[in-house]
Amino acid sequence: MKNISILPTSVFFGEEAYQQLHIFYHKRYLSNIFILVDSNTREHCLPYLHGRVTFLRKAKIVEVPYGEKEKNIQNCIKIWKEFEKQNSDRKSLLINLGGGVVSDMGGFSASVFKRGISFLNIPTTLLSMVDASIGGKTGIDFNGIKNEIGLFKEAELVLIDLNYLKTLGKRELKSGMAEIFKYGLVADSSFWKEINILSNNLIGRSFIERSIFLKTRMVRIDPKEKFGSRKILNFGHTIGHAIETFFIDRHSPISHGEAIAFGIICESWISWKINCLTEKQYDEISKNISNTYPIKEIDQKTTETLLSFMRNDKKNEVGKICFSLLRTIGDCYYDKKVGDVIIQESLEQLKKFIKNN
Ligand code: NAD
Repeated sequence: MKNISILPTSVFFGEEAYQQLHIFYHKRYLSNIFILVDSNTREHCLPYLHGRVTFLRKAKIVEVPYGEKEKNIQNCIKIWKEFEKQNSDRKSLLINLGGGVVSDMGGFSASVFKRGISFLNIPTTLLSMVDASIGGKTGIDFNGIKNEIGLFKEAELVLIDLNYLKTLGKRELKSGMAEIFKYGLVADSSFWKEINILSNNLIGRSFIERSIFLKTRMVRIDPKEKFGSRKILNFGHTIGHAIETFFIDRHSPISHGEAIAFGIICESWISWKINCLTEKQYDEISKNISNTYPIKEIDQKTTETLLSFMRNDKKNEVGKICFSLLRTIGDCYYDKKVGDVIIQESLEQLKKFIKNN
């Protein structure tokens, strides 16, 4: 399937991405160029970018440690101080070279510095290629709550080069797959089928393009989540974000996609229990997801903590936890209020999928 034309005008792949970067550089007067990296993308991705784009060898590098724990205000302060050190003005440019942590935090830092400087995203994880670098949500975690502080601001360009995926571990590739599964479940049943046939094989460019297309279609209708339809993209994320937050400070944090995989199983179960999804569809979803991701048991005490995180979810209304739920595979609705008991039961179901290996 060839669907370049369905991509947003700011997203480019491969050679064309580098051409667009050159055009951008020559068209703009840029007083300073910064590249935001984390410690892993500095090692694995920056040398490659320098090899491809010689004018970027002069750019100032701003490095933050890797990981979700680092998506915080202290690292934004570090970024702003680096901007100040170079006497940056509004003609400065920030290039976010990394996964979703780098693009979320870099996009936010750039958008508020001197009321906003330009930023571009060069996503280096599958997850950031299909999701985080697209759609304009930027932000940081604050006070133990994911994405608590942030704003909507699109990157001026998103430059996708699949070569970056060569140094990404299998676990991180699978993490990106979770958002691809989600697109099929909420918006395109034939896509869901195709992904499951491919399963653990490496996803190619056409899958990435189709994911971007599906996300962009929803974002265009409701760019700032005001009318609600963008909330469909949050399927799996009410429980998923709570699980991700819970594990951030543990010895073994889980990836964003793994947490969303837990969320997809639980929220599909809730979708079945409130009589929309069929049992057969729930079985199909939970089987495919649990075969791809390692599922952990969530005990009663943890469930209480997760519920307290969910009460802080931005989608809630008048104190009730709101979900995006499946009507069927490929169709999702939003703003469904769900009581605590059914949420607890959905978390208990995870036990069934734990494999002893
Ligand atoms: P990440 O940025 O933490 O990257 C995952 C790991 O891979 C990190 O350790 C990173 O250093 C490493 N890495 C990145 N690129 C690499 C490469 N090419 N080779 C080797 N190692 C590499 O996490 P992520 O999964 O990319 O993104 C998760 C974040 O994105 C979360 O904070 C989530 O909230 C956010 N997110 C945002 C949106 C949005 O719309 N803004 C959407 C989905 C997720």
